[in-house]
This record gives sequence, structure tokens and C-alpha cells, in this order.
Amino acid sequence: MALIDDIFTAGVIGAGGAGFPTHKKLVPCELLIINAAECEPLLASDRYVMRNFAAELVAGAKLVAESLGIGRVVVGTKRKYTEEIAALRSEIDTQRAAVEVCELDSFYPLGDEQVLIYEITGKTVPPGGIPIALGIVVVNVTTLLNIFRASQGTPVTRRFVTVNGEVGHPCVVDAPVGASPEDLIAAAGGARVASYSLVRGGPMMGRQYPGGVTGLGFGKADGGLLVLPSNNKIFTLAAQPIEHVVLQARSTCIQCTLCTELCPRYLIGHVMRPHRVMRSIAVPDSAANTAGAVDALLCCECGICELFSCPMGLSPRRMNVLMKGQLRASGTKPNTEIRPEQSRSREYRRIAQSRFIERLDLGGYSDHLYDCVRLDPQQVKIPLKHGVGRPSAACVAEGSEVAVGDVIGYVEQNDVGCLVHASIPGVVTAVDAEYITIRRAS
Ligand code: SF4
Ligand code: SF4
Repeated sequence: MALIDDIFTAGVIGAGGAGFPTHKKLVPCELLIINAAECEPLLASDRYVMRNFAAELVAGAKLVAESLGIGRVVVGTKRKYTEEIAALRSEIDTQRAAVEVCELDSFYPLGDEQVLIYEITGKTVPPGGIPIALGIVVVNVTTLLNIFRASQGTPVTRRFVTVNGEVGHPCVVDAPVGASPEDLIAAAGGARVASYSLVRGGPMMGRQYPGGVTGLGFGKADGGLLVLPSNNKIFTLAAQPIEHVVLQARSTCIQCTLCTELCPRYLIGHVMRPHRVMRSIAVPDSAANTAGAVDALLCCECGICELFSCPMGLSPRRMNVLMKGQLRASGTKPNTEIRPEQSRSREYRRIAQSRFIERLDLGGYSDHLYDCVRLDPQQVKIPLKHGVGRPSAACVAEGSEVAVGDVIGYVEQNDVGCLVHASIPGVVTAVDAEYITIRRAS
């Protein structure tokens, strides 16, 4: 199919975080959902795309629907994004597109694919399954922009990165793939504090770099960089050694079940009960408790249980991650049952994004960022692996001259992986297992 070929050729992957190759994800289905909910607090890149590229987004949605014979397209977004919704609706009218906009409450984690599907359709994706089991495909709004650009022959060489937190000018940075955290921070006015830690992504699920990091290149799925005080709760919790966290779970969990009552996966009907996982760690020899540990396989690691729910300051999320590793190693399958009472009291247990931000001491940072700064650094380190799937194989060597858009990393189209393109013109100065480094031509 021509569109899928274009998407592969342009190296499009999911821009919302996991980075699944889009040429593998887009299949004929009944419903295409455009995820425009910007899941994590403090990030603003998707909103920027909605405000400024509405015409491309609507054209892209029409193109995907026509190419794949999809009957219904729905943009799922937050009701409070009034400007973004107005821009989309105006374009939908102009292009006479059969695209719906579904305006939803602002809670965390609305942008979780399975939560978004539940909000829009009232249906629960089978536990351990994927949306196509319901005839649904979900793509992120920035991915849709990249799909449209792919159809015009433009590969993914740049992306919008929100740089927020303790920087002089929090903004969206239009950066080449492979930009360094140092260059991204400089583009946002530089750090305002001498000592800080970084988050690559959002505060809840992003990768943390206590004390900062060097030698990194941002990839196609990296939509955020947060510069935060090192004593923020998100860092202090993550810094606790796992042995300590296990001992705490054994000695301090009062089995109040609050972690389960507020778990978004439990609330859509999955048998995901973190309090049972905690119990299985506290009393591992009981057969009933061992069975409860299997719930860990359904955890999406959103962090609500450890950063919001638990009154004892425990970390069910980390226990789930620990348990998941052990269960997967033993070949254990998840519980695929769906609880029939999933919707009861759910609407009262969703956590408003504003409450969540305050609880994390992040209320001082706005996520309403209008400015976009273009970054053209002297050097990029372009990752060979950009998300789920296999890394691409470098097809340039040290000393190769490249132009923007040249293929420098290769996979076959039937691979779960993506082509990688040069994002600045220049000379390849290094190739290793992780990165291709390009120095700009002078
Ligand atoms: S909320 Fe905390 S104390 Fe309560 S059951 Fe869950 S882990 Fe235990
Ligand atoms: S991190 Fe906690 S709240 Fe989130 S899905 Fe896992 S168990 Fe549920």
C-alpha cells in the first residue's frame, strides 16, 4: 500500500512515547483514534502541533481513513484545550472532513491508550491485549503530522520537544533528531539553577537522570525534557534502593487498597490490584498471594499508586515492575478477565491533572507554552534505536558526507523498527552501537 510504504520510507514511529513503528501499527480497522490528550503533566508539544498544524492533521486523518478504509475517525483531546479544538474544528469544516473531536475531562492518565479508548467508546481493551482486538487503532497527534509529511515525501528528521522546569524560557523547541540535552536547555534560555536533575519525557513515566547527563542524543519519540530540582519527590522516591523498597512493602503496607481503588487500569475493568501484589511480596509463600502477584503483568507503570494514592509512601509501581520481570521470565500469562463492574464510581476516582501536579510540587511550572524556538546545533548524536523494536543498522561510516534526509540507519520493511535519516548536513564523525554522530558542515 502506497501510504504504508511512504510511512516506512520516512521512518515514522509513534511520537507519543513508546515509539512503535507506524508502518506496522496502521492497519485497516473500524475506528481510528487520534490521541491528542498530552498524557503527562508539563508537556506542551502536542498542543503546539494542534494549534499550528491543524490543516496537516486533518488532511492526514482523511488520508489515513481513505487509504485504509476506516469508517470513523475521532480526535480525543482535553476539553480545556479550547484554542487547539477551535483550530481543529475550523479545519475540519474547511476540508469537509468526517473527523469527530471528542472533548474529555482533564485527568491523569487520559493519554494512556487504553484509558482514552474507554473514555471515547466505553469499551475495555482485553487485558494484556492491544486496541485492534476492538477494531481500534490509536495514533498520537504528532505521529499523524509525521504521517502526513511522509505522504509528501518528507522523512522524520526533526521533532518538537517541550523544555520545561528550571529554565530561563520554557518553550517548545523545534529540534533535529539527535539534539543533546545541553543544546535543548540552551535553546530554552539555559538552566536557572546550578544543580538540577533531568527527566527525558514527562515527570510520571519519563526516564530520570539524577544530577544531569552528557553524551545523549534525543530520538524521534522524545517529546520532553524537564529540568527540575534534584530534591523533587519524583527523584527521591526513585532513588530508594530496590531492597529498601521491598522491605518497606513487607513491613509497612496496611492493605488499605487505595492503590487499587485509584488504579486507572483497575478502573477500566482489568484485574489489576496492586494491593494484592504488595501482599504477595509481604507473604510470598501463600498460594493465594502468589496468584495475586500475576496482576502485576497488567500494570502500565503510570505511577499514580506511588506518587498519589499510597498513604504510607510506598511504591506499588516498583513492586509491579520487579514482579513483572520475574513472571515474564517464568512464562506466566496475564489474567485476561474483565470485571463487569468496571464503570461503577470510576468518574469519581479519576485524578484531576491539576491536583496531581500540585501533589508532585510541580505547580509552579506552566504547561501552556506558546513559543517555539528552532534549534540548529553544530552536532547531533542520532540514536539507531528509537523505541519499540530492533535498532537499525548503520549504513554510513566515519567520514561519510550526509545531507538532511539521507538514510543513515537501515531496517527491512517487514522488521519492527524504523529507517533513520540524517537530521543536519555534515560529516559523520563517529558510529557506534547506539549512535551516529554528525558534525555540521562549516
Ligand atoms: S495504598 Fe499503600 S498501604 Fe494501601 S494497600 Fe496500597 S501499597 Fe498498601
Ligand atoms: S503504576 Fe500503579 S496505578 Fe499505575 S497501572 Fe500500575 S498499579 Fe495501577
